[in-house]
Amino acid sequence: MPLYPDTQLYIGGAWRAARDSLPVLNPATAQQVGAVPVASRADLDDALAAAADGFRIWSRTAPARRADVILRAARLLRERSEEIAETITLEHGKPLTEARAEVIRGCEFFEWDAGEALRTYGRVIPSAPGIRYVVIHQPVGTVAAFSPWNFPMSQPARKVAGALASGCSIILKAAEETPGGAVHIARAFHDAGLPPGVLNLVFGVPADISGHLIPQPQVRLVAFTGSTAVGKHLSELAARHMTPVLMELGGHAPVVVCDDFDPVAAGVTSATRKMRNAGQVCTSPTRFYVHESIYGPFAKAFADKAASIPVGDGLDAGTQMGPLANPRRVDALEALVADARRRGAKVLTGGERLDRPGYFFQPTVLAEAPDDARVMREEPFGPLAIINPVASLDEAIAKANALPFGLAAYGFTHSARNADRLAEELEAGNVSINTLEASVAETPFGGVKDSGYGREGGVEGLSHYTIVKNISHLLA
Ligand code: NAD
Repeated sequence: MPLYPDTQLYIGGAWRAARDSLPVLNPATAQQVGAVPVASRADLDDALAAAADGFRIWSRTAPARRADVILRAARLLRERSEEIAETITLEHGKPLTEARAEVIRGCEFFEWDAGEALRTYGRVIPSAPGIRYVVIHQPVGTVAAFSPWNFPMSQPARKVAGALASGCSIILKAAEETPGGAVHIARAFHDAGLPPGVLNLVFGVPADISGHLIPQPQVRLVAFTGSTAVGKHLSELAARHMTPVLMELGGHAPVVVCDDFDPVAAGVTSATRKMRNAGQVCTSPTRFYVHESIYGPFAKAFADKAASIPVGDGLDAGTQMGPLANPRRVDALEALVADARRRGAKVLTGGERLDRPGYFFQPTVLAEAPDDARVMREEPFGPLAIINPVASLDEAIAKANALPFGLAAYGFTHSARNADRLAEELEAGNVSINTLEASVAETPFGGVKDSGYGREGGVEGLSHYTIVKNISHLLA
């Protein structure tokens, strides 16, 4: 079995142990693979002091030098990608092939934002003779960032990349269940020569850490990825201190399959994508609204493909879907399936936990679930899709938009007219036509409605980490 990294706090450029720790479990076996330290109040205060020092240095470091350090760290992460992928599979459960792809994706976030560091242009506003108005973008200050457990390396990478490219310092609280990805990031930046205090990594009791960090006047941005409920709570806390937030929250992505599209091709593509990361993806395609004329072949192709996906330990060659990351998800899925069954939904495949050690649930496809079934409103965050027939594009779009979420939405069609309607009318921060990819480093990613606020990636990504300052200069 691969080795799991020694996991410590990283504060002021040095690694430190903590008195208390929590176990890190391998979800494929439910056995302990490591331990994560619990930061004390004193550790958090040290991280704040270090981040203040780090900000003073980094905000005055030339963008080209900042980009150089970020690119050096990304190169180290690429060199270490096999070791990092093994860590991710051990702590999260996903297949090694997916873990490898996640590491590369995290590197792409760093590489893109390193480029953007060189392009945070201001502007000169045309003005009357004798006065000059100049707009500049300055780093906002210390960022308190909270990353979740579903992508242990690429989720922290998003936040660290944005902060460091902009000239901010950051205190990152990564997920306690999957701390290893963030530890590898901190190691890479340490080895790449990042000045002490610019990046600080802590773990512990999430509510204690957010409750202590967010009210600090020094913290000038709260960046969070996770559930809508926690995002709203942290946004309220930040609002009390007039601190801006960047919130990437939950989704419940609809997919509209039009009658002009090959139902078998769409069904196979959809089932494959749905089961990526065992469905624990905020953009995971979940509610399928399929034109009634192709509903039967689509549902069959989807269910057959889902049922054929090999489920197992992510370290085993041939595994295409691993366990869920924690037992909470298995319980949640079981409850959603039971409720849908009670309300008359059909189970086309799956629906059960697997009788083996670890947190395994079958790839699951439900059909004809009524709109009031819990699964039609609550994000399953697991390997579960629902396929429902619709009579028209109008009906599909209305149902797609009926939930308070709006992160990703998808459509399958060859018709330019349908594609245009889907692109314009689906209420989501990201609409994809004929592909179930919702975000890459060079495009802005984020939600509307309850799915959050702000964008990561693209040319928009650094804007949250900077403030806009107008300078009026009378040429006296
Ligand atoms: P949860 O709501 O308890 O926690 C979600 C995340 O928020 C975790 O990473 C957790 O450590 C963190 N968190 C919780 N309370 C916090 C606090 N007071 N301060 C700071 N951080 C806090 O749920 P969970 O069981 O861990 O995950 C399940 C749900 O979370 C899913 O249904 C999904 O909606 C959501 N989720 C979304 C994403 C995403 O990418 N948007 C990622 C992971 C989880």
